[in-house]
Amino acid sequence: MRFETTVQRPVEARGVGLHHGVPVHIRILPAPPSTGIVFLRTDLDRFPVPASWRHVARVSYATSLMRQGVLISTTEHLLSVLYSMGVDNAYIEIDNLEVPILDGSGKPYVELLRQAGLKAYRRRKKYLRIRRPVSVETGNKRISILPSDRFLLTCDIFFDHPLIGRQSLDLEVTPERYATEIAPARTFGFEHELPQMRDMGLIRGASLDNAICFEAASVANEGGLRFPDECCRHKTLDLIGDLALVGRPLLGHIIAERAGHAMHAELVKRIMSDPTIYEILSFDQLATRVAHSLVP
Ligand SMILES: [Zn+2]
Repeated sequence: MRFETTVQRPVEARGVGLHHGVPVHIRILPAPPSTGIVFLRTDLDRFPVPASWRHVARVSYATSLMRQGVLISTTEHLLSVLYSMGVDNAYIEIDNLEVPILDGSGKPYVELLRQAGLKAYRRRKKYLRIRRPVSVETGNKRISILPSDRFLLTCDIFFDHPLIGRQSLDLEVTPERYATEIAPARTFGFEHELPQMRDMGLIRGASLDNAICFEAASVANEGGLRFPDECCRHKTLDLIGDLALVGRPLLGHIIAERAGHAMHAELVKRIMSDPTIYEILSFDQLATRVAHSLVP
């Protein structure tokens, strides 16, 4: 896509937050070029919280943004969908502190965006292209990004559960592939971990309508899984939602091995804190470069 975009018309959704369990109403509205994605807390005089790596507050179990003490919790699913579907600019009005979980996947947000439609501005889209590899490692978990002229993801997960085990996914993120292969994958949890999570004040809004619950050897949800590797697809969805905090379309190959929100956030911070790691290119500059590199 050559030009910056926004939504054509406002759309809205109501639901509950996964962790806080609070009722919430959001509206996705058109925003001018170069706005990026900005949350507006309508219960706090439309206080703005930009979806930027600069405002990452908490990264355990979900990604939360905070600006001057104002919180937006569990941003990753909505941001993943906006980013993958190519929405550069939008205001997200929200009347509480957590984004609604809806069915636990990105699918309802993809459907909302289809209702909203996309509108292109005349301003040229600028991409953030990775120039040299960066890696973040903790124990047996690792996330790396390598230079590429495309947006490529490799995601590996391992969970010691008979229905999960080791799963791996390779994907070039395009709106079409995202909508069919990634967006429908739901968030998930393990029955034996639920009491501890509740004690931590988490998952107060969770139910079988918005999360997969793995029991010892089965799935508690009626209808089972949407994909045999739904967990790996959902981790990919989460990963994209965290990468979206770079604030512009990314060109690079991300390889995530058992990484979670904290490591995703650390990678984004490393990239954005060192301008020698990346360059900012327009679609046309990129097209010219790719054309030249193809000339023998
Ligand atoms: Zn998630």
